[in-house]
Amino acid sequence: MSVRVGIPRALLYYYYFPLWKEFLEQLGAEVIVSDLTTKRILTRGVEHCVDEACLPIKLAFGHVQNLVDKGVDIIFLPRMVSVAQREYICPKFLGFPDMVRQNINNLPVVIDTTINLRKKQGNVKDFAQQVAAYFDKGFIKARLAFGQAMNKQKQYQDLLEQGLFPEEAMAILRGQERKFNKTNNDLTIAVIGHPYNIYDPFISMNLLNRLNKMGARVLTADHLTEEMIDQGVKKLPKKLFWTLSRRVTGGALHFHDNGKVDGIIHVAAFACGPDSMTGELIERFIRREGRMPLLNINLDEHTGEAGIITRVEAFLDMVRWRRAIV
Ligand code: SF4
Repeated sequence: MSVRVGIPRALLYYYYFPLWKEFLEQLGAEVIVSDLTTKRILTRGVEHCVDEACLPIKLAFGHVQNLVDKGVDIIFLPRMVSVAQREYICPKFLGFPDMVRQNINNLPVVIDTTINLRKKQGNVKDFAQQVAAYFDKGFIKARLAFGQAMNKQKQYQDLLEQGLFPEEAMAILRGQERKFNKTNNDLTIAVIGHPYNIYDPFISMNLLNRLNKMGARVLTADHLTEEMIDQGVKKLPKKLFWTLSRRVTGGALHFHDNGKVDGIIHVAAFACGPDSMTGELIERFIRREGRMPLLNINLDEHTGEAGIITRVEAFLDMVRWRRAIV
């Protein structure tokens, strides 16, 4: 019987799930994902996590708890330090496996192998080998499995760059047919924020679908190539060394400059230090140029759906009115 390895549908799930899934399956594991976010998952996360944590970390606690309930043999929580040279992931990711161990009872084995590519891309081989050892697989199998996983990840990123959203791209990788939706959208809106905020339908209050129903086609930073994002951040006087914040800011500034969107919605999480800084940077740049409508939305566990809908409706009305008079 295969070992059942649980992956939380939270944090970097929307970036790396195809890579992790392929890698673990190549090592002989059965991958189990936590359920879609619900009120109960969020509430359990809030109960188990420290008060000071940001909303996505609290939610990730709820997803880990959900995997414990499913009785998986192992929970996969790689310790993400850096995924690019001379850059870091937010420090909350680094401490996440320890926070989980401290606060959740009855945990199975946790794989918390470190990924730190800040100095050397080659460290990824050590990571693959250390994870493979949990499944009694050696060096060669680790390298082959990781190579296959990287191919899968490349296919996933190509699909995102073609304009698909993560769940659509993952469905295609599972072998489902691509759907082409005919829409009559009159606006294009860029939604900028961390994937774990904007793609989680519960946390974002279904923002992407709502925008679509209100007549707006949605683009996100994941639809852009790395070069486009880099072009956006080049406008800043200093390099941003947080990978996630670089993507958010570079995406916003690229959409602002290329004129292909009618407005930008920036989604931030309450108690997120990096978001408060990038939100300010984006707002300053966009307001200084004064030619792109911008809406800031802050999410926390108490955010009311009605308030968000009203603000988004008013924003789209303003974008349409502005477009009519310009
Ligand atoms: S970047 Fe912000 S939202 Fe994301 S984990 Fe760090 S503090 Fe939380």
